Amino acid sequence: MRVIGRQPQPTALNAARRLRELSVLGDDPNVDVLVVGGGITGAGLALDAASRGLRTVLVERNDLAHGTSRWSSKLVHGGLRYLASGQFGIAYESAAERHVLMTRIAPHLTRPLAQVLPLFAPGHRTRGAYVGIGYGLGDGLRRLVGTPDAVLNAPGPLGRDETIRLAPAVRRDGLRGGMRGWDGQLIDDARLVIAVARTAAGYGASVLTRVEALRVRGDGAVLRDALTGAELEVRSRVVLSATGVWVGELDPDVGLRPSRGTHLVVATARMGGSDVSLTIPVPGSTSRFVFTVPAPHGRTYIGITDVPAEGPLPDVPHATDTEIDMLLDTVNTALAVPLDRSDVLASFAGLRPLLTHAGTADGRRAATTGEETSDLSRRHAIIESSTGILSVVGGKLTTYRRMAQDGLDAAVERRFRAGEVIACRTRSLPLVGAWPRERTSEIAAAPRLVRRYGAEAPFVASLPDGPAAARGVTAQELEWGVAVEGALTADDLLDRRTRLGLVAADRAESEAAAAAALSE
Ligand SMILES: Cc1cc2nc3c(=O)[nH]c(=O)nc-3n(C[C@H](O)[C@H](O)[C@H](O)COP(=O)(O)OP(=O)(O)OC[C@H]3O[C@@H](n4cnc5c(N)ncnc54)[C@H](O)[C@@H]3O)c2cc1C
Repeated sequence: MRVIGRQPQPTALNAARRLRELSVLGDDPNVDVLVVGGGITGAGLALDAASRGLRTVLVERNDLAHGTSRWSSKLVHGGLRYLASGQFGIAYESAAERHVLMTRIAPHLTRPLAQVLPLFAPGHRTRGAYVGIGYGLGDGLRRLVGTPDAVLNAPGPLGRDETIRLAPAVRRDGLRGGMRGWDGQLIDDARLVIAVARTAAGYGASVLTRVEALRVRGDGAVLRDALTGAELEVRSRVVLSATGVWVGELDPDVGLRPSRGTHLVVATARMGGSDVSLTIPVPGSTSRFVFTVPAPHGRTYIGITDVPAEGPLPDVPHATDTEIDMLLDTVNTALAVPLDRSDVLASFAGLRPLLTHAGTADGRRAATTGEETSDLSRRHAIIESSTGILSVVGGKLTTYRRMAQDGLDAAVERRFRAGEVIACRTRSLPLVGAWPRERTSEIAAAPRLVRRYGAEAPFVASLPDGPAAARGVTAQELEWGVAVEGALTADDLLDRRTRLGLVAADRAESEAAAAAALSE
């Protein structure tokens, strides 16, 4: 157990723990649950399994949140878009999971985000009425699942002045007012993955990064330590694949049609310093929108595209010029001073693991081929391969807990005796650092740290000082990343424990600080 100051850290992930757990696994390679993949789905599965008392190992061939889970829009969706397409079940599930995430599981990593849609003449009345109905339905769902007004406000119309006050970058010409809705926002998606993985580690799961699963079967796999090349055979009562868009490498029967979603990164100052999300209709469409998302480090993200990603799967996807132009053109329809290419500090893209075909473990059939990727269901599925591997695919960050519960329930039903394993507990398990939203002022640390670390912020602040990174990220945050959050390399620190790596200049300015933290 790593000791930070005088605080023992049973949830701490670091190089020493990794080595020790690999050695223990070598001595006794029989486990209950092997989870392959360390994105949000794998981390959620590991937490569900470990908190049911099962001996659990998670392997990730790179770093936690190396895949799609760090390229999302970082929203905790209430399911509005699914309501619009008549998918009530998935909309309800989204709203219910948003509720538990924001009120109990991770209030410290989530916050209410105002979404402002400016209304321009002509057509402002029709658009306002259309959006108002949508927001109203979404709000009905919020009430149905019991999320109080204190967590997410009711939506409503905005006057012209209020719209300008909330979104100062918006163009005045033709502006008549706006509509404001509310949804959940994560401080960062990769931080959610790390918090879930650490919570799983606190329940005894071995979370092993830079360990690849090779030759995976329904009852085990050969694991390869990417740092040493050493191989180890593990036997497991159940093997769960949470490999996202790479699921076909483990089970070729699962059909995915990845869809690329791109975001731009601009300075928040360029959006008038606004802390709300600006929602802008895509010209010519009534159902597609481009939105801005205020982000850490004084950045704002602008997303999102939804285009089929053909060809071999890249390790890190990239935006195309067409996508960048489409995002700029759309956002500029609503801005007083248009953004141009020189305002784009960076872009990032992720691949959605959208299911096209395969029978699911509960007998349902997943979505069919031939649809637009934007029409493919965001529903998740548990799929059992002919070799017995259970793949947990589809879904989204917001519903990770429910995906994990369904995955483990399917595993327990198939591989364990009745009554051998307790029922899922994760609905009532707060993640490390969780603290009631209304009491965050009691945490004795800078608000910026409290938003990232919750109740753990004072421990982060008490670490020894050292060289700081860019954008106000302290040496202590980087040290915490190494000592407690499992960062093994500078990229882990800059690309996933912080998001400084998104902008090349921030990365360059932070490399020495990251190296110093790793050498501690
Ligand atoms: C652009 C975009 C925006 C999105 N926005 C939102 C949003 O705002 N809100 C929301 O709720 N959802 C959103 N989503 C959806 C959400 O991001 C994904 O559904 C989710 O992150 C998928 O997580 P995952 O763990 O299944 O896959 P991944 O995060 O891709 O994880 C799979 C992991 O498996 C590892 N792996 C693969 N093979 C092996 C192996 N053999 N051995 C070991 N490890 C292996 C990979 O390295 C990878 O880390 C968005 C998605 C995209 C693309």
